[in-house]
Amino acid sequence: MLLPIVQVGETVLRQKARALRPNEIRSKEIRELIAAMKATMHTAPGVGLAAPQIGRNLQLAVIEDLPDYTKDWSKEQLAAREREVIPFHVIINPKITLIGDKHVEFFEGCLSLNNLMAIVPRARKVKVECLNEKGQPQVIEASGWYARILQHEIDHLFGTVYIDRMYPRTLMTVENYKELWLDHSVAEIKKKLGVE
Ligand code: ZN
Repeated sequence: MLLPIVQVGETVLRQKARALRPNEIRSKEIRELIAAMKATMHTAPGVGLAAPQIGRNLQLAVIEDLPDYTKDWSKEQLAAREREVIPFHVIINPKITLIGDKHVEFFEGCLSLNNLMAIVPRARKVKVECLNEKGQPQVIEASGWYARILQHEIDHLFGTVYIDRMYPRTLMTVENYKELWLDHSVAEIKKKLGVE
């Protein structure tokens, strides 16, 4: 089943979601919700989807980065982003810690802000403590693009959207990005768009 994706302007995207109770996690309702979120993320397509994005005020997100999504990317583009395939998994009730002081800047988009993207600085490395879909505790240490996805999705669970963290002057349509900026470096784009 596919679920409609909520767009910015709805309160659910701006609230702290509630933690799932241990006995809820393996319930039929939550298992079905996870399956529906997985299908919705695939169809979108996206590399992550948080429950508030389908209108549910729950600390739950699904993540998966497939080779297909980057098949047109060069080795250099993938290496710069430290982007690798990530198998499907579920994060529940996460606690995120940013590690180190290294930040990286890349364009980011969101299924709840159709057709827009912007340059967003993010910590290069994070540690996430959470539960998986079986309710088992997990510790995820991630860097590069995976760390970015985790920060983006966990932000959603606490009412934050990437536009709260972006360089506002770099917000653009996907069409304009492809037409005007695809071959430019992040530093060059920031400079030309007047980011101080
Ligand atoms: Zn998003």
